[in-house]
Amino acid sequence: METHRKSGEIVEHISVLDDPASGLSGAIVVHSTALGPAAGGCRLWHYATPNAAHDDAMRLAKGMAYKNAIAGLPLGGGKAVLRLPHGPFDREKLFLSFGKAVEKLGGKYVTAEDVGTSVADMERVARATRHVAGLTQKPGQAGGDPSPWTAQGVYEAMAVAAERRLGKPLSECRVAIQGLGNVGSALAQMLFDTGATLVVADPFVSLAARSSAWYNAAQVVSSETIMTAEVDIFAPCALGGALNTVSISTLRAKVVCGAANNQLATEADGVLLSNRGVLYAPDYVVNAGGIINVAAEYLGWSESEVLLQVKKIAPRLTDVFNAADDWGISTKEAADRIARKTIADGEKFSKGLSGISSAVEFRERS
Ligand code: NAD
Repeated sequence: METHRKSGEIVEHISVLDDPASGLSGAIVVHSTALGPAAGGCRLWHYATPNAAHDDAMRLAKGMAYKNAIAGLPLGGGKAVLRLPHGPFDREKLFLSFGKAVEKLGGKYVTAEDVGTSVADMERVARATRHVAGLTQKPGQAGGDPSPWTAQGVYEAMAVAAERRLGKPLSECRVAIQGLGNVGSALAQMLFDTGATLVVADPFVSLAARSSAWYNAAQVVSSETIMTAEVDIFAPCALGGALNTVSISTLRAKVVCGAANNQLATEADGVLLSNRGVLYAPDYVVNAGGIINVAAEYLGWSESEVLLQVKKIAPRLTDVFNAADDWGISTKEAADRIARKTIADGEKFSKGLSGISSAVEFRERS
C-alpha cells in the first residue's frame, strides 16, 4: 500500500490537482481503501491557498473513512477538495478535468456531491469516469437526494439516545434544531409527527419550511440563542464546529444528536460533553444515512437495501454507547476506536491475515 504523510496523518494516496486550463486546483485524498474503494464527496469552496484545500481534504477524508467503516459499508474513505476559482468559470471544463483525475485513480476513489457541488456537476464528472455517484436517480434504483435518509437515521438514533439518557420517548421531549435546511426540515417533520415539542432556529428559513405545520407549531428562536434553549435534546443540523468550550458550558440539553458533520470544534469537546453529563451521539455514526444512499447507488443496491442499512444506525449507536461505558471513555472516543479497529481489521484482511470484523464483533472480542 502506498502511503503519504501530511500534517502528521498517514494516508494511502494524495492527488494534487492543478490544471490552470480548466481552473482545477485542489486535492483528492484517499485515506484508506482497506474496506473498499475510498468514497467521499467533492467539495468546491473558498480556500486561500492550495495548502488550505489539501489540509481540509486530509481532515475530511479521515472523517469519511471512519463514517464508512462504522456504517458497515464495503467502502474506504476519501475526499476531493477543489478551490472555488475567483470570478466566473466554466463548470463543464472544471468538472470534466476533475473527472479525468478521478478516472486516473482507477476506482480507488469514488466521488459524489458535497458542499458547493450538485447533481449537474456529478453528471459532468460522469463524462470522464464511472467512479461517481449522486447522479440523477433512475426509477427503482437507489440514488437521488440523500437528505431524507440522513434525517431518518438521525431520528432513530435520537430516539435511542433519549431513552438512554432521559428515560423517555421522543414524544415527551423538547428538541432544539439548529438549521432547517434539507436534513433539519425533514427531521423537524418526523419529530412533529411523533409529538415532540420543537424549538428551531435558522437565519434563512425556506418558504416551504415557513408554510409547514411543524414550523408554525415550533418555538422559533434566534441562531444566537438556540444552543441555550431549555430543551432535552440539541440537534445540530447546520454547519460544523457548533460545540466548543464556550457553547458546551451553556448547553442545557442532556442529549446532543444531529446531522451536521464535525460538530465538535476539537477532540477534547467530546470529553467535555461527557463530563457535563451530556450524552453525545457521535455525528458520523448517526448521519450515515446519506452516505449509505450514495453507496447504494454506486454499488447497485435497491432502495429496500438502503432502508435495511439505515435501520442499523440506531443499534450501532447503542453499541457505541455501551462501548464508551465499558471502556470508561467518551462516546466520541469510543466511536473513533471502533472505526479505527474496523479499518485495521480490513487492512489485515486485505493482506490475508484475518477477517473483517464489524463494530459489534469488535465489542464482543475486546
Ligand atoms: P443545508 O445547507 O440544506 O441546510 C443547512 C441550514 O443551516 C441552512 O438552512 C442554513 O441557513 C442553516 N444555518 C447556517 N448557519 C446556521 C446557524 N448558525 N444557526 C442556525 N441555522 C444555520 O444542509 P443539509 O443538507 O440540511 O445538511 C445539514 C448538515 O448535515 C451539514 O453540516 C451537512 O454537512 C450535514 N450532513 C448532511 C447530509 C445530507 O444528506 N444532506 C448527510 C450527512 C451530513
